[in-house]
Amino acid sequence: MGLRIKKGDRVRVLSGKDRGKEGNVTRVLPKENKVIVDGVNVAKKHQKPTRNTMQGGIIDKDMPVPASNVAVLCPKGHPTRIGYDFNADGTKRRVCRKCGGDL
Ligand SMILES: [Zn+2]
Repeated sequence: MGLRIKKGDRVRVLSGKDRGKEGNVTRVLPKENKVIVDGVNVAKKHQKPTRNTMQGGIIDKDMPVPASNVAVLCPKGHPTRIGYDFNADGTKRRVCRKCGGDL
């Protein structure tokens, strides 16, 4: 089973130091079963001076979190699991397992 979460999904963190935080998925790492969420699991990274900036500094970097630690938020506002359903033409669509609405 691959990752059902997609880039751009809005998710809520279920565990860890960022529990309860919400953000948008900016990157999906299917091989590691991880996602990168905007503003979640932020690490301070030291940046070396570059020719352009001429100075180093500390930057915030979003680090990956296990996909199992986040829940997708339904457009109606509740965290849910992603299910699949089929359209009349046979194409697949993602649905909210709680309310059945489109995700
Ligand atoms: Zn729903």
